Parts: sequence; C-alpha cells; structure tokens
Amino acid sequence: MKRYDLVIIGAGMIGLAHAWHAAQAGLSVAVVERSGAADGASVRNFGMLAIVAQKPGPELDSARAALEAWQQIAAGAGISMRRAGCLFAARIPEEMQVLEECASAQGHAFELVSGADLSHRAGVPLQADLLGGIWSPDAWKVDQRQAMAKMAAWLQRAHGVTFHFDTEARAIAGNIVETATGAIHADHVIVCAGDEFATLLPEAFAASGVTRCRLQMLRTVPQPATWRLDPFLLGGLSMTRYSVFADCSGLSALKAHQQARQAACLANGIHVIACQEDDGSLTIGDSHHYGDGAGPARSEEVDQLLLGELAALAALPEPEIAKRWIGCYAHLPGESALVLHPLDGVTAVTLTNGQGMTHGLSVARGVIGTLFGSG
Ligand SMILES: Cc1cc2nc3c(=O)[nH]c(=O)nc-3n(C[C@H](O)[C@H](O)[C@H](O)COP(=O)(O)OP(=O)(O)OC[C@H]3O[C@@H](n4cnc5c(N)ncnc54)[C@H](O)[C@@H]3O)c2cc1C
Repeated sequence: MKRYDLVIIGAGMIGLAHAWHAAQAGLSVAVVERSGAADGASVRNFGMLAIVAQKPGPELDSARAALEAWQQIAAGAGISMRRAGCLFAARIPEEMQVLEECASAQGHAFELVSGADLSHRAGVPLQADLLGGIWSPDAWKVDQRQAMAKMAAWLQRAHGVTFHFDTEARAIAGNIVETATGAIHADHVIVCAGDEFATLLPEAFAASGVTRCRLQMLRTVPQPATWRLDPFLLGGLSMTRYSVFADCSGLSALKAHQQARQAACLANGIHVIACQEDDGSLTIGDSHHYGDGAGPARSEEVDQLLLGELAALAALPEPEIAKRWIGCYAHLPGESALVLHPLDGVTAVTLTNGQGMTHGLSVARGVIGTLFGSG
C-alpha cells in the first residue's frame, strides 16, 4: 500500500496551498483529486488577490503574507500574474463620500481619482458621468484558468508531491484513505474539498453550521487589442461588501440608497467586478445566493443585473457573452475559515469568506505549522 506523511484531498487552491507548505516542511505528500484537474471554485473565480479589499490588521497581514508566497509560486510554476491594481468608481455622491473617507484612512495606499482622470486610470473609456474614484496598486491578477494545473505540475516536478487525479476519496478510516482505485496510507489526512460536504465527514460539516454560497459569472468574447482594462473595476455595491470600507461613516447613507434604488441587486447579492484576461476577454461577476437550497440553476435576471451594473461604469466594444458559469464556495457567516479536527489524524479546512485565492496560502501555512510544528 502507498504510504505518505500527509494525504490531502482536493487539488483546488486550499489543497495545493497545504501541499506546498507541507512539502516545504519536508513531508512526503500526496494529493487525491476526484476530477482530472481542479474543478471547483479555484478555476471559476476572478483570480483576484484582493489585498486592497482587506481591513488593516490581521486580515490585511494575512493577504500580504499569502501574496509573498504567491509570487514565489507563480515564478516557479510559470503562472501568469500581474499587478493589475483596483479601481473603485463612484456614480453617486454617497459612493464618492465612502471612497474619499477610505482614501484618507490609514493602512492602504489609495489614490483619489477625479471623474476626468478615471478613464486614464482604467486604461479604457469609462462612462462620462462618473463622479470619481479611488485606485490602489494592491490587487494582483493570476490566470485562474491555468494556475491550479500549473501549480500542481510544479509541485510534482520540483517538490516531489504525488498527485492522484481522477481519483475520488470515498472514506477515511483510521490512517487509511479509501479511494476509487485503492487504499492509501496516511499519517495525517487534510480534507480540502471546498464546498463538498456530503462525501467525507458529513456529520462534522453538518455540526459546524457551514453552508454554501452560489455565484453567477460571465465572460465576454475577447475585446479588441486596443481596449485594455488595466485594473479590476468595481462599483458602489462592492463598497458595502468589502471590509476595507467597514469603518466609513458614509456607509449607512450608501446602504440606505442601495436599499431604496438597487433592491434587485441586493436581493441577488450582486456587486460588479470586471477584469480582463490574458486573451482579451472580460470576466464579469458576481452574485451571491446562500444556503444549501441555492441550486445550480442560472438566472437570466441576474445576468442582466450584472451587465446593467457594468454598463453604468463602462461600455464594452464587444459585449457578446461567450461563457456563463456558476461557482460555489463554503460559507459560514462571520468566519473566514473553518478548520475541523473530527478524528485523530484528520483535519478539514475550507475557506468560508469567498477569498481563498487571497488568503489560502496564509491559512494553510498556519494549519501545517500547527500540525507539524513547521514555520
Ligand atoms: C465565482 C467565484 C469567484 C471568486 N473570486 C475570488 C477571487 O477573485 N479572489 C479570491 O481570493 N477568492 C475568490 N473566490 C473564492 C475562492 O475561489 C475559493 O475560496 C477557493 O477557490 C476555494 O478553494 P478550495 O480548494 O477550498 O475549493 P475548490 O476549488 O472547490 O476545490 C476543491 C476540490 O476538491 C475536489 N474534491 C471534492 N471532494 C473530493 C473527494 N471526495 N475526493 C477527491 N477530490 C474531491 C473537487 O473536485 C475540487 O477540485 C471566488 C469564488 C467563486 C465561486
């Protein structure tokens, strides 16, 4: 029987983050993935390392530490990663007030941008009636479509991690992981199955209260080569979602405005993020529907709300939608990560704040350090 110090279940961002830290600590590591490649939230997101969105303090420290690890990994694995920056644009005075307050607060290097300068900052024409915005250099764009596959290949090639793709883990019994293709012996098992709570450790997940968030996403056809949106582009609905704005006194007036004028967006948990991919296409999202009942059905209304919010910021030269998809992540209100120790030698880790790309490498460093006494 194959034997490893550590077997990780799931080859998404969180599984690979644990594999990286464990391999660095000198452990023999195997990763078991039910699909032929990572198939969950990690390949369905924006690829945004959102340092900019974090409240100064432990959250920001965690995101910055993860970024350092990302830079090392991207260089080693050949993952496309650029410092895109992030532009929040205001359409109404209530949004502008929140942005101005946030720009003058400590902890982030925000630059106030006038309405006239917004298009220059964006790199593409934005709507002329926008009031202004704030820009930060602290957002990185990784190529989410390729990053997991490249990281897995590199972990195997350069760090000796073994991968069992197309292999579902069906049960964990003592030190044995039962898979569809045989048993694997593990001194320790870490379950990193994202929002999959039914197959492994269902009782432990049920007792934790963790549930699921479903997000709807779109991608356009490639835009013309002359149209290059440099930063992530976000609007007012993001200001009431991200913790970096949480202490702004203007937030209550903005929330009141949204409740009165953007009720359909709030009901669907919509805040618009747009970012341009290496091939020129634009990824656009997202909506948030919470709870186990949030099934996989796509909603045309949500698509139209998302596109309407984006149109208020920028008109696309090529608006045709080439792809629509759903992504899901684990959700536990008020918690950024869930770490369970349901059995001797078994740990389960899932991020519960929808920011696993940004924080996963820091969370995994903490888990591996605690379990194995590594740095
Ligand atoms: C639409 C969307 C946009 C997002 N945007 C961002 C963003 O821009 N920035 C950011 O920081 N975060 C973002 N997130 C959140 C981020 O993508 C997630 O937090 C992160 O990817 C979760 O990684 P994971 O490894 O836990 O889960 P997943 O990526 O879902 O991976 C879990 C893996 O486990 C495998 N698996 C499950 N059960 C088994 C089993 N029994 N045996 C074997 N394999 C199994 C699955 O096949 C899957 O590949 C977004 C999420 C979504 C859905």
